[in-house]
Amino acid sequence: MSDIIRLLPDSVANQIAAGEVIQRPASVIKELVENAVDAGATEIQVIVQDAGRTLIQVVDNGCGMSETDARMAFERHATSKISKAADLFSLHTMGFRGEALASICAVAQVNVRSRMKGAEIGTRIEINGSKVESQEPFACAEGTNMMVKNLFFNVPARRKFLKKDSVELSNIVKEFERMALVNPSIDLTLISNDTTLHRLLPGSFKQRISDLFGGTVAKHLLPVSTSTSIVSIEGFVVEPQGARHRNPLQYFTVNGRHMRHPYFHKAVTMCYERLIASDMQPQYFLNFTVDPATIDVNIHPTKNEIKFEDENGIWQILNAAVRESLGRFNAGPGMDFDTPAGFEIPVFKPDASANPEVTIDTSYNPFAPSGTPAPAPRKPSVTSNWEQLYQGFMSDMGQRDAVPAVTQMTEGSPVIEGLVDGSTDNDEAYGLSSAIQVRNKYIMAPAVSGLMVIDQHRAHLKILYDKFLKIGTGEASQSQSLLFPEILTLDATQESVFGEIEGALRGMGFDFAPMGKRSRVITAMPQIIAHANPIEVVSGIISDTAAGTLKRTDDGMRAEIALSMARRVAIKSGVKLTQQEIEHLISELLRLPSPNYTPDGRRVIRVLTDNEIDNFFK
Ligand code: ADP
Ligand code: MG
Repeated sequence: MSDIIRLLPDSVANQIAAGEVIQRPASVIKELVENAVDAGATEIQVIVQDAGRTLIQVVDNGCGMSETDARMAFERHATSKISKAADLFSLHTMGFRGEALASICAVAQVNVRSRMKGAEIGTRIEINGSKVESQEPFACAEGTNMMVKNLFFNVPARRKFLKKDSVELSNIVKEFERMALVNPSIDLTLISNDTTLHRLLPGSFKQRISDLFGGTVAKHLLPVSTSTSIVSIEGFVVEPQGARHRNPLQYFTVNGRHMRHPYFHKAVTMCYERLIASDMQPQYFLNFTVDPATIDVNIHPTKNEIKFEDENGIWQILNAAVRESLGRFNAGPGMDFDTPAGFEIPVFKPDASANPEVTIDTSYNPFAPSGTPAPAPRKPSVTSNWEQLYQGFMSDMGQRDAVPAVTQMTEGSPVIEGLVDGSTDNDEAYGLSSAIQVRNKYIMAPAVSGLMVIDQHRAHLKILYDKFLKIGTGEASQSQSLLFPEILTLDATQESVFGEIEGALRGMGFDFAPMGKRSRVITAMPQIIAHANPIEVVSGIISDTAAGTLKRTDDGMRAEIALSMARRVAIKSGVKLTQQEIEHLISELLRLPSPNYTPDGRRVIRVLTDNEIDNFFK
């Protein structure tokens, strides 16, 4: 038998390597900007077209390359940054693996113009899928200008799996922001489809944070500073009230390199444990400096994961430094974080206004034979509370006639799986009044021939979604001006997403007025959500769109926005409902033409059939 093993041609090997290093347009930007930083540039311009699909261009005023170096740079393992293995442990450059340019030129068309400092003339090279097409002397500015066109043009599978432009652009902006934070002394610009998303002048770290993320974040920064023999940590944490629900700004760098480090992240978040609600996330910008010999940068091709020699030691130092900063901010020196009374965390009480004094009796059994949901008073001292609750309940009962009657409710003849019998026109059929809420999460109600279990959040989401889709179609009234217009401040990613969906938002009843750099005043909302928090709703829609979690449907943006709004406004799981609310929810849900699934395909209702229930007891 003849031999069958052969060495892969370089172009194929490079394409395989590109799979690891270059995953998306943002990875190209990371590699090219890092090269520009390593080249000593003081000014770097990043230009993208179509979220990097068509063009990624990085222009720097760094040291430039000679004619030979410019060609060599695209060979695999070609680097000017290290020459022996020992150099790996004293790295002072971003790059060292010599594979970024080789990988990029294997999966794109590259055009480079470069002139060394002081050289009379520069050079221009064109490379197409690893093949050098041409090189010639070229008059250009000092520094390097790299143009990467049609990324993945020869790897259709990769190109196909690129996400929609808003998502890829958001990744690009995030990558750019990470590098901008690490290099506050470099003049940096990001331009996307001829719009300038960032124009950052050299300045302090704090100034850079402010330029990138806005003055509101910068105003709430608490300095962190500590220096020990194994590490020094400098930077800022954000005051507890600056914590965010979504997309928190959380940045670690080590020796000028951005890193992900879940273990150190924990050291910071633990300090906030009693200071912020459990669903909020702290924000931080922390820079570590260590002896390069004590870290290994080379555990992943993207170099974002870094192994430290003494992770436990650094964890302790980091945790103590952040605690100290937060302590100084809150109560002056000596504040004891282990005293529960140290901080009052506001607790969300949805029913607080209706029954201000009522404490929920966890031993209350809704299945008790009396059928009365009012719990027996446990101690005499709570009698008055109990009376309030009971009275509240009675008055709810009195109002029940206002709730659509069961007979009306079934007009739409909902088809629910498991409802064997279609005759739904009498009170016993659904027995709304005996519906109960279980674990503040599900609603159970008798169905025609079984028992319905409804997920309260999904049910409400579905009801709202159907309503929101009708906004502007004449069936639902439109817009309501806000009595107190609210200011929405966007970061660069959000700004570009906003541009994409602004028209659709207006079509649904939102209105905006421009207000300075990347800010808008929300002046009107769709009337049916007029009670909701405008900032939360709009930024929720923007972040859903940016994250690409919303599928595009035939109804396009409207459906996406309706779903996102419904997610924000729908009753959450864990919220206690009054009997009236329970009944209203079921009745509205069952009016819908298809109440069984949410728009994103999750089940709303399950029915346990009589047979199934009987089988439990066989
Ligand atoms: P690495 O950065 O790991 O060395 P790259 O493939 O990214 O590998 O780059 C290869 C070489 O090309 C670098 O070592 C450097 O000498 C040269 N180079 C790349 N980009 C630039 C640039 N913008 N300016 C000057 N030299 C560059
Ligand atoms: Mg490099």
